[in-house]
Amino acid sequence: MQLEGSCHCGAVQFSLESANPYPYQRCYCSICRKTQGGGGYAINLSGDARTLKLKGGDHVAVYHAVVRDGQGAREGVSSAERHFCSHCGSALWLFSPEWPDLIHPFASAIDTNLPVPPERTHLFLDSKASWVEIEAKQGDKLFKGYPEESIARWHERLGLETPGASASPDPLRNGG
Ligand SMILES: [Zn+2]
Repeated sequence: MQLEGSCHCGAVQFSLESANPYPYQRCYCSICRKTQGGGGYAINLSGDARTLKLKGGDHVAVYHAVVRDGQGAREGVSSAERHFCSHCGSALWLFSPEWPDLIHPFASAIDTNLPVPPERTHLFLDSKASWVEIEAKQGDKLFKGYPEESIARWHERLGLETPGASASPDPLRNGG
């Protein structure tokens, strides 16, 4: 499936192919929540990095999330690149150098009508803010940290893969 995305101000437009386009994965980690999560979570998709087309690349900035230990002390920065528009702040996609074949666009940046997922995965619940309610429906899966299942495997299990699907694993590397 071809995904078209853009930031809010229109300076950045992008597109990519995704074999796994269902927006089922809600990430409650503090990075997603603080940088973009309106409901207390962000929704990550997965797409083929080789197909990424970008207009307005000069306006894209990258955030490497600060990683902290349990006491809140700074331990370093995440290798994951969180791409966002330097004018309006819209989060665009996440790219991890460890998984160079994959781009994880945020569903919030996608303009294409995405399919409604039959069930959802809620992840990084140990980083959830106290005010965030988990709106889990029957069949949803809940994880304190990373889910056991990659985005590709979830689509495979539910028979929702689109042709040309990549079989490569894709655990999200967001960090907590
Ligand atoms: Zn913008």
